[in-house]
Amino acid sequence: MSIESLASYTRKDWQKAADKVLASAETRFFIDGRYVDAIDGGRFENSNPANREVMAAMAAANARDVDVAVAAARRAFRDKRWSGLAPRARMDILYNYTKLISENTEQLALLDTLDMGKPIRDMLNIDLPSVIQTIQFMAEYIDKIEGSVTNTPSDVMHYVLREPIGVVGAISPWNYPLLMAVWKVAPALAAGNTVVLKPAEQAPMSCLRLAELFVEAGGPPGVFNVINGIGEVAGKALALHNDVDKITFTGSTEVGKLMLQYAGQSNMKRVALECGGKSPQVFMADTPDLGRAVAAAYNGVYANMGEVCNAGSRLLVERGIYDEFVERFITEGKNAYVPGDPLDPKTNLGPLVTDEAQQRVLSLVESGKKQGAKLEFGGDAPKLHGSYVNPTLFTGVTNSMRIAREEIFGPVASIIPFDGIDDAISIANDTIYGLAAGVWTRDIARAHRLIKDIQAGVIWVNCFDEGDMTQPFGGYKQSGNARDKCIESILSYTQSKSAWIRLS
Ligand code: NAD
Repeated sequence: MSIESLASYTRKDWQKAADKVLASAETRFFIDGRYVDAIDGGRFENSNPANREVMAAMAAANARDVDVAVAAARRAFRDKRWSGLAPRARMDILYNYTKLISENTEQLALLDTLDMGKPIRDMLNIDLPSVIQTIQFMAEYIDKIEGSVTNTPSDVMHYVLREPIGVVGAISPWNYPLLMAVWKVAPALAAGNTVVLKPAEQAPMSCLRLAELFVEAGGPPGVFNVINGIGEVAGKALALHNDVDKITFTGSTEVGKLMLQYAGQSNMKRVALECGGKSPQVFMADTPDLGRAVAAAYNGVYANMGEVCNAGSRLLVERGIYDEFVERFITEGKNAYVPGDPLDPKTNLGPLVTDEAQQRVLSLVESGKKQGAKLEFGGDAPKLHGSYVNPTLFTGVTNSMRIAREEIFGPVASIIPFDGIDDAISIANDTIYGLAAGVWTRDIARAHRLIKDIQAGVIWVNCFDEGDMTQPFGGYKQSGNARDKCIESILSYTQSKSAWIRLS
């Protein structure tokens, strides 16, 4: 069923479809084009955070299972069953792949919603269209990856080739389970690599089907493999593996740092990191349209339950508009997101991913209260049977409080007042992170100053969280060292080879 045909589904339709999807959900690994069990039969529980019910026991990989998956990917790379195909043939397979993903929207959307609580309407409106666009964009570039011929004396020819890197290990998070995986897998495949993906253990189901659909679309077996398991076991074994040529990781800064260590302890594999954030939005007193700005402020931190790496969780508001901004945020933002059943197409706020995540967010809320911030609304859990947290707003926050320093990964907004542009820049940059920022002003010179002086990989001006596939997405500082989406992303899955040919 395509995305469009699902628009009329009611909550009841989704529940019926969910029961069917769960009854046939795959729990094993997908290696070499088929489903296989863990060698020692290890399993871990997978629950639905909206009702806390255990849905499945998923196969849990250990180092030996990782060896099997990496060996399959290595064989597929070595015999060139993928990189050796004509670029057009690979493009056709990936285009066919997007068609199959679209046809399997119902199943894929449900698997992520059941796994991590994302509202089903977000899966239809945001995640799956973005998954399809990502694969299309990367596919379109396959026959445009070029090398170069350089200027040399006439008795020499020198050319530079771009070649795939080899076996790519991808480790992904649970907040956009399919999309974050595809941001890694699609450019890696487009560049001719083979892949072993380890999705987050909190949302392990959908990526198995994603890999299976690649084979159904005509992709050779062994090119795209998926193992599941606990990060400290399966993820670690993959990142430490001596036959993995590159690790591409999206997740927390803490685990991102481990990736660099694992690479150093093993084969010095390349490491691409997309990590955490604590993004500021700076609202200057001359913010052009306060209504739109306030909406961008609450959408930027409450959408996807605040479980977004670039969530605009620090709202820096210039003193001259502070009172009006706060008042409007309370009036318009307080009820904009209503916790509910993620399978109800009207719901725009699901549960947090786990009970631990809920407890962590609530304890950070307590720290905000203790450190003197003013709780304007929320700060508690609604009376629903799941790991929910109500949309929350703190005002009078200073940048030294824990709620302004730590990535909360929940629907918690902090408004911080400032005086003048220098103060704004200094607060915006006073963080270990540097993923993204929003700036709001009518003054073009002021906008350029903020763009230049704020240390972040993505800056939005008079908007927030917009963009398309051409946009490099990634961080400065401890938000990481990679860029997803964009052409730079495909090229980062290639390496150059210089051929210096003496002709005389
Ligand atoms: P996480 O770091 O806990 O886990 C991410 C992945 O790493 C999971 O697959 C997990 O199993 C694995 N892992 C955990 N410990 C490991 C270890 N010791 N060795 C190897 N692998 C290990 O992150 P999460 O909770 O899944 O995701 C939330 C984080 O992801 C947030 O910090 C968020 O900002 C970040 N994120 C960043 C981006 C970006 O583009 N920059 C996008 C989405 C999410």
